[in-house]
Amino acid sequence: RFSTVAALDEPITPPVCINYTQLLIDGKFVDAASGKTFPTLDPRTGDVIANVAEGDVEDINRAVSAARKAFDEGPWTRMTAYERSRVLLRFADLVEKHNDELAALETWNNGKLYQQAANLDVPTLARLFRYYAGWTDKIHGLTVPADGPYHAQTLHEPIGVVGQIIPWNFPLIMFAWKVGPALATGNTVVLKSAEQTPLTALFAAKLLHEAGLPPGALNIVSGYGPTAGAALASHMDVDKIAFTGSTNTGKIVQELAAKSNLKPVTLELGGKSPFIVCEDADIDTAVEQAHSALFFNQGQCCAAGSRTFVHESVYDEFVEKAKARAQRRTVGDPFQKGIEQGPQIDSDQFEKVLRYIKSGIESNATLECGGDKFGSKGYYIQPTVFSNVKDDMLIAQDEIFGPVQTILKFKNLDEVIRRANNTRYGLAAGVFTKNIDTANMLSRALKVGTVWVNCFYVFDAAIPFGGYKMSGIGREKGLNSLHNYLQVKAVVTSLKNPTW
Ligand code: NAD
Repeated sequence: RFSTVAALDEPITPPVCINYTQLLIDGKFVDAASGKTFPTLDPRTGDVIANVAEGDVEDINRAVSAARKAFDEGPWTRMTAYERSRVLLRFADLVEKHNDELAALETWNNGKLYQQAANLDVPTLARLFRYYAGWTDKIHGLTVPADGPYHAQTLHEPIGVVGQIIPWNFPLIMFAWKVGPALATGNTVVLKSAEQTPLTALFAAKLLHEAGLPPGALNIVSGYGPTAGAALASHMDVDKIAFTGSTNTGKIVQELAAKSNLKPVTLELGGKSPFIVCEDADIDTAVEQAHSALFFNQGQCCAAGSRTFVHESVYDEFVEKAKARAQRRTVGDPFQKGIEQGPQIDSDQFEKVLRYIKSGIESNATLECGGDKFGSKGYYIQPTVFSNVKDDMLIAQDEIFGPVQTILKFKNLDEVIRRANNTRYGLAAGVFTKNIDTANMLSRALKVGTVWVNCFYVFDAAIPFGGYKMSGIGREKGLNSLHNYLQVKAVVTSLKNPTW
């Protein structure tokens, strides 16, 4: 029933070369201290596309020393805010110049649609750096009233050496969310990319240096979580750690931070976001938006609308249309035009998603369509829709992180609020209604970091994003993200002549 537009057995040759596979430390590409490399794979086939230097404890130590030296001695931290801004702006221009190469590399390494990478992921990288470039000279302290003959003021200072650990689902956008605000506020950075997708972070960091970023201000260590990632989170000379990934790993990162030097932690973790379709919603719009809220990026989004709650009066119509839409979804080579869905990132995620589909079938949810892998090569999965899903089923509780829509039925608003909030997560929610009072009530009642009303996945640079509950700590993007990377220092000066 699914469109087989592309011949999966003959993957399209990516229009890009892989030029950077080493670690980037102190402005230079270097091998890992151990000399080790690890393979990075093409999700379309599972074939090796490059061997990448595998960073470990010693490389993290080298990268942190370089970042410390760059923080203590400059020049990044000594440059004026305007000069720093210009580096970030030049980088954004270079990203635009290399848009298609970056996009091709992102697709090759991640399996996401080339059209998406070229028109969304890469342009978002440029957009976010321009946004942060605008902030560098607008970070103000305050003059504060004091109960005595004192002049009190606050200085907003960079925290120091920042460690950042990112996931594989949006390698370049996660790079932007992390590196943009840290550099704009004058910190120096050691970033560990995800082991599945190391390639574009290296390319982007190379472009930042071409734009004038001095050595040591940004260091990239490719490698695995329990080795390089854990070394970064537990390093005694890292002043702050920012992490995006699974809730379980987030807990480990926070523990490592606490057990080492108590460095502050921001976490952007998993979700099981409710997508609520009220009885008065425009059904066709809601079907289409619920479809993309779940299936976008192969379902590999932390904010995915992965519990579709539909009012009982429109439930059957919605399920019929959601099924038809999923059956129309085109699956195939992500480099091919007209394709809507590529492969999952790797065999682990592929197997995990198939296990959840099996669990949905076994727990007696109704399999409307899909339910199996797609093709015989790579990590493709059929767009899958379950109806008659109950709250206690595993597929309604866990983050599946794949193309599996679960549709639940509700009777009234009090009930859907209670059920939508009955989860350990609290990242985002979608609300579809034409009634302003319903929209206002749900927006306030849902315990989530973002509510999208009659829309979904609006991720503008200035809009903060982050989670309630076990979806995270802190906010990224927007003004809020700058505070993750700033210390506030109070300076109180005795006044010589208090009468003035
Ligand atoms: P993960 O949490 O294991 O990996 C994310 C990052 O953390 C990677 O860079 C990884 O190397 C690193 N890491 C792993 N173990 C570590 C450790 N002990 N110490 C320090 N760093 C460590 O996530 P994953 O395996 O890539 O994906 C698994 C699940 O994570 C997905 O199914 C999904 O639920 C969730 N996820 C969420 C997001 C998000 O944006 N919130 C993104 C990707 C994955």
